[in-house]
Amino acid sequence: MSGSGGEGGSAYIRPMSLDAVLADIHACRACAGELPHEPRPVVRVRPETRLLICGQAPGRRVHESGLPFDDPSGERLRGWMGVDRGVFYGEPAIGVAAMAFCFPGTNPKGGDYPPPRRCATLWRPHLLAQLPNVELTLLVGSYAQAWALGARARRSMTETVRAWREFLPDFLPMPHPSWRNTHWLKRNPWFEAEVAPWLRERVAGMLAA
Ligand code: SF4
Repeated sequence: MSGSGGEGGSAYIRPMSLDAVLADIHACRACAGELPHEPRPVVRVRPETRLLICGQAPGRRVHESGLPFDDPSGERLRGWMGVDRGVFYGEPAIGVAAMAFCFPGTNPKGGDYPPPRRCATLWRPHLLAQLPNVELTLLVGSYAQAWALGARARRSMTETVRAWREFLPDFLPMPHPSWRNTHWLKRNPWFEAEVAPWLRERVAGMLAA
């Protein structure tokens, strides 16, 4: 299960239903004193979730809409997965649970602040324990990779993604689909030439099963 090789592996798992965990997450205000806005947890999973997408944290647009990957990053991610919006949001087999569920705010130096660490510590083991049907987790970006892979993660996101075959069948490390990674994608054309086609085939196979 996700997290078994990383920081989340040692947490005590309270016996809870998925609905109860989701209700607690949506009511969570643990970061209220540190965020520049009211927490608005965004997570979208169902008991049928088989493909779990684990990114960094919602951006401002997702914070406003409440819909994960409802932004240009989501469009690129859906392209890599070979699905449209209707499938992405309507297919119960596809779920989204980032390393933090609330928008961490915009860093004046550029980009967003990192996901608050406490979110994964507080919620991730409990949430993943209620998702027994997950077959593949997309580890989108270095935070998700560090948490799920632990010592198996390489020194850099690029090296971890390059070693993607080693983490199958449970995990697929990926870069974040943000426009900020457009240069990374140009420097690493093997990702869209090798990894994305594999992912499209895997997603198609899962949805057809
Ligand atoms: S980021 Fe996570 S821990 Fe912090 S308030 Fe939101 S749901 Fe709670």
